[in-house]
Formats: sequence, structure tokens, C-alpha cells
Amino acid sequence: MNPARVLFGPGTRTRLAEEVSSLGAKRAVVLSTPEQAQLARDIGADLGSLSVGILAEARMHTPVAVTEKALREITSIKADCLVAVGGGSTIGLAKALALRTDLPIVAMPTTYAGSEMTPIIGETKDGRKVTQSTPRVLPETVIYDIDFTYTLPKDLSIVSGLNAMAHSIEALYAKDGNPVVTAIAKESIASLAGGLRKLAQDDTDRDAREKLLYGAWLAGMCLGLVGMALHHKLCHTLGGMFDLPHAPTHAVILPHAVSFNSAAAGQAMQHLSDALQATDPVQALFNLVHDIGAPTRLADIGMPGDGIEAAARQAAANPYWNPRPITEDDLHQLLQDAHEGVRPGEA
Ligand code: NAD
Repeated sequence: MNPARVLFGPGTRTRLAEEVSSLGAKRAVVLSTPEQAQLARDIGADLGSLSVGILAEARMHTPVAVTEKALREITSIKADCLVAVGGGSTIGLAKALALRTDLPIVAMPTTYAGSEMTPIIGETKDGRKVTQSTPRVLPETVIYDIDFTYTLPKDLSIVSGLNAMAHSIEALYAKDGNPVVTAIAKESIASLAGGLRKLAQDDTDRDAREKLLYGAWLAGMCLGLVGMALHHKLCHTLGGMFDLPHAPTHAVILPHAVSFNSAAAGQAMQHLSDALQATDPVQALFNLVHDIGAPTRLADIGMPGDGIEAAARQAAANPYWNPRPITEDDLHQLLQDAHEGVRPGEA
């Protein structure tokens, strides 16, 4: 299920050409967002004669129109390998192209979103995001080069790390969880929490960056291996309805979703306590989010107060598995608290 080959560590980008060749490819195209075009050009230069072009057009939420244009371009240049350098948006474009062409992907993540470890692809068309899971979109090779992550601004690094932590925390109470996923999730949460606290002090700290990328790798595995619940579904609903930024939404919602589920997920809370080295995991999580300067109020990231009712209704309308049954009233209360940044348990 997971990518066959992973390279991890500083300077691993220098092994890209070797990895592309070992896939039998000779005509790689490098994908990125427009903001990371220079990095894509540098990677293209690293590839030398193995590179046939740069496509710096990836966009958030993988719009189908962008994919179709990219598909025409990679077909005309006869690309035989997709090198994705970037976060979830760039890796999403590579996955969408692999879905249509079966070309191999070498992913070089530069955020902590974890998409490179999952068979999940969400595509947007006519304002609707459709998600599917297929091993056809799994990258063949992932190169985690810590050096890529230093340029990710501190505030984005913090919310991206919390986005990763959300994957691991929901894996602890997943319906289809197992002891191996639990072990991966605990290791991930501990590494991410340690990395985030260090990064908040100094975002050039190498140990912080290494802990975060390692934790994000494990978190991506959790996301790819088991089903997510309330937290992810709610973030998905809010993102779609109000165009809220992806990772900051995760940062705000996480302590509230975990607090809501805590009474129905005792074993998972014990694991979370162990990973965070805390007696009260919900308070420890809220303290972490607060201490590292992440957003704690939906109001601060663009959620209109008069949207709470509609969001609660929509999130309750699509039933999904969660350790604790959810009603529209519950969601209303949770969103109200998250909107105002109330400490869980103090409402
Ligand atoms: P992103 O890829 O959208 O990147 C955000 C911005 O940061 C972009 O402008 C990007 O160019 C820039 N950036 C990225 N890395 C940088 C770096 N190291 N230095 C400087 N700038 C950098 O953000 P994301 O949070 O990684 O991805 C979000 C998207 O990924 C969403 O669409 C989400 O749905 C998707 N996602 C998918 C999965 C999956 O399994 N399919 C998992 C997680 C996220």
C-alpha cells in the first residue's frame, strides 16, 4: 500500500537523478506551484538531461482544469516520470496526472501534509471536491530532504505540523485501527510535538525540522492506512463551505474534536497521553497549539460567525463513523467554541 521506496535525510535531493533512472525513466517533468517555480527549476537542473520540462502550475485542491492542461503538456513533451516538489497541492497534481497516465511519481515533500504517503486523491470541479482512494496514485519513491523545509515560513510550518498531528491522533481511535498503526501514530505525535515546540523557538533548528518531517512521514502513513473521523470531516466541510485555509483550520479544530471524542475513546486518550507525556491529553493539546502561536479561533482565520449554524447542519447531514455519535447540536456547540477559541472543557 505505501510507497515502495523512501529516502530520508538532509541532502537526499542529490540522489534524485539516480532514483529517476532506477525507475527506467529518461524524460522527467518537474511539477510545483507557481510560488516554488525556482525550486522546480533547480531540481530540473539537478536532473540534467533527464529533465524535459518544468510545470509550475499546481493549485490548492487539485482543480481538474489545471490537471487537464498539464496532461496535454506532459503528453506533448512525452514525459515518462513525474517529479513533484512541494506540498499537498503539488503532490495532488502529480497524483491526478498519474491517475490518468499511470506514470511513476517521485515525490519530494516540502511541507508536513503527508499526501505522498497516501493513496487518496481529491479533485475539484465546478466547486465540488471529489475524493477517491486508489493505489494508482501512490508515489513510487519519496525523497524527504529536510533542507527543503527550512524555507517553509514558521507560521505555515506550525500549522502544517498540526495538520500532520491530526492524522496521527485520529488514527488512534480509527474504526479500522490496529496495534501497528497505533505504534506509528504515537511515535509520530511525540516527534511532531517535540519538533513543534523546538521550531517555535527557532525555525532554523535542524533537530526541530528533522523531528517534524519524520513525524509527518509517519502521520502520512496513518492517513493512508486507516479511516479518519470527526476532525477531518469537519475540516473538510469548513474548507469547502468558507474556503478556509487548509492547515490553519486543522490547527483550530483539533483540540475541540479530540475533546469531543475523548469520553468515547479512552484507550486512544491513554495513548495520546503517553505520546504527549501529559496526564490530560486534551488540555496538553490545547496548550501546545496555544504555546506555539498557532491560531486558536475560527474567527481569526476567516470563518463568519453567522456560518456556524449552516456548517453544523451540513457536517451533520453526511453521516460517517466516529467513536462518539454526533448530533447537529453537538457540532453547533463545538464550532461555537472553536470560533471563539474557548479552552475545551471551559465552555
Ligand atoms: P500547499 O501544497 O498548498 O502549499 C501551500 C503554499 O506553501 C504553496 O504556495 C506552496 O508553494 C508553499 N510551500 C510549500 N512548501 C514550501 C516550502 N518548503 N517553502 C516555501 N514555500 C512552500 O500546502 P499543503 O498544506 O502541503 O497541502 C494542502 C493540500 O494538500 C490541500 O489541497 C489538501 O487537501 C491536500 N492534501 C491531500 C492529502 C492526501 O492524502 N491526498 C493529504 C494532505 C493534504
